Amino acid sequence: MTIGILGGGQLGYMLALAGYPLGLHFRFLDPSPEAPVGRIAQRVTAEYSDHDALEKFVHGLELITYEFENVPVSAVRFLAKHVPVYPPAEALEAAQDRLNEKTLFNMLGIATTSFAEVNGAGDVDAAVKKIGLPAVLKTRRMGYDGKGQWVLRTREDVEFVKREFPTTPLLLENFVAFQRELSILAVRSRSGETAFYPLVENHHRGGILRLSIAPVPNLGAKLQHAAESAARRVMEELNYVGVLAIEFFECNGELVANEMAPRVHNSGHWSIEGAATSQFENHLRAVLGMPLGSTATVGVSAMVNLIGEVPEEKDVLAIADAHLHLYGKSLRPGRKVGHVTLRAESSEGLSSRLAELPAFFHRDEFCLRGHASEHGLRKASARKA
Ligand code: AMP
Repeated sequence: MTIGILGGGQLGYMLALAGYPLGLHFRFLDPSPEAPVGRIAQRVTAEYSDHDALEKFVHGLELITYEFENVPVSAVRFLAKHVPVYPPAEALEAAQDRLNEKTLFNMLGIATTSFAEVNGAGDVDAAVKKIGLPAVLKTRRMGYDGKGQWVLRTREDVEFVKREFPTTPLLLENFVAFQRELSILAVRSRSGETAFYPLVENHHRGGILRLSIAPVPNLGAKLQHAAESAARRVMEELNYVGVLAIEFFECNGELVANEMAPRVHNSGHWSIEGAATSQFENHLRAVLGMPLGSTATVGVSAMVNLIGEVPEEKDVLAIADAHLHLYGKSLRPGRKVGHVTLRAESSEGLSSRLAELPAFFHRDEFCLRGHASEHGLRKASARKA
């Protein structure tokens, strides 16, 4: 049985690795000839808008899923005329636009930061008046890893925005003074069965995820219940199939939803070694309509992303219960090229494993009890909206 995957990056790579023991085959479509899945599966190199290529791609596939949330919705709708595509196009549509996403959250009773739509320079003053400063300005579409967003603190920042983005569709958000950044990975199968992983604590550097701790230290039942309930509402509303990630800010013991991803997610990579069934395997089980696997944790885990560079393999592998994943991508600054998962029996054990990581990792000075803060934000050039 062959599954088609749109996008050929590391998420697709890890989906295929999880699928081979289940006897599955994979065919990927990605516009980039560099897509790392070329090493391990059939790869079609074509634009998502190339309908001839899509027709050829779909031939003989059982179903299609995607690992990249900026796949054009039109490509998904086109393919869905031939074979089932999961998650459904409606989920992709909601997640691709920050305004739709936050509107959906609010409609379902899920708290978000306050926000205002900005469709041009003329809307900026009214939006700033409504939201106040400091605020975070984001492109509505195509933002990821902190790209396409700016912190506005002063009148000069506001004037800069008016000059720089006279027509780009944007969203202005209240700047949230959060204590922690958390995410939940949830999964819903074609039969409607659902399962949830425990909340994960995430630390970013320059807007890019650097470290995830799973489960969140001192995770209370109330937070976990709130996150599961939010994810369940979204999945039921969208008739969702597959893994869904929702990112939250934790503010004074409450969750504020920031965004969602209709796919397997970087903050779930720990589950390969740290859960009974990984997010990748559960995504495949869900889209195939198979029973879901247990999401129970196996000890506690820390996942550290390798961004733009890799350490000496032997230094990482010398640590007990350290697992190195290299994606086979060329090294470029800011590019996720691999990750390391450390696992231990207890939080204390995990702290000492993190301390054992070679000096390479300690330039960030991350630690288990560290606090995420506004340094996750940066000025970045606008991406085409
Ligand atoms: P996003 O692309 O929305 O995931 O944002 C990237 C990172 O910027 C988040 O992980 C936070 O660290 C930070 N961030 C985004 N939105 C806000 C906000 N409204 N208030 C404070 N920090 C934010």
